[in-house]
Amino acid sequence: MSWTDDRVETLKKLWLDGLSASQIAKQLGGVTRNAVIGKVHRLGLSGRAAPSQPQRPAFRAPRPPRPAAPPQPRRIEAAQPAAQPLPALPAILEAPGTATVLTLGAHMCKWPIGDPSTDSFTFCGRRQGDGPYCNEHARVAYQPQQKKARSGATDLARSLRRYI
Ligand SMILES: [Zn+2]
Repeated sequence: MSWTDDRVETLKKLWLDGLSASQIAKQLGGVTRNAVIGKVHRLGLSGRAAPSQPQRPAFRAPRPPRPAAPPQPRRIEAAQPAAQPLPALPAILEAPGTATVLTLGAHMCKWPIGDPSTDSFTFCGRRQGDGPYCNEHARVAYQPQQKKARSGATDLARSLRRYI
């Protein structure tokens, strides 16, 4: 038998379709598997990709693991400044008052400031809140936890109030 153009075309098609040489030989009829293989080689078709092996990208060797980064020196956190102890009173409450015994008015804060035996003794003199003191001094005077520490002053204020 001979390779007619039709049979060659069929051979090419079947080969490219992925059929094996023996399957092609059976389809064509009258040729052996070896004859098909020989014809395929002569036609230069042998380099087809095997259908059972789907094309996939070439295997890439896994990258060597990166060398471990040198440990970063830990950022030393700035030491927190030691908490300053709260002053017993805000500075404004210890500032010299604006009123003296002579100028203290009816609606002025009667919080005594300083030593009553000296000329620098004053009263707060700011506008009174609900009580005899301004809001700031009232807060101090009636704070239970500060009552003890300020007992001297509040006692003094209490005794002074009798004369005002
Ligand atoms: Zn006051």
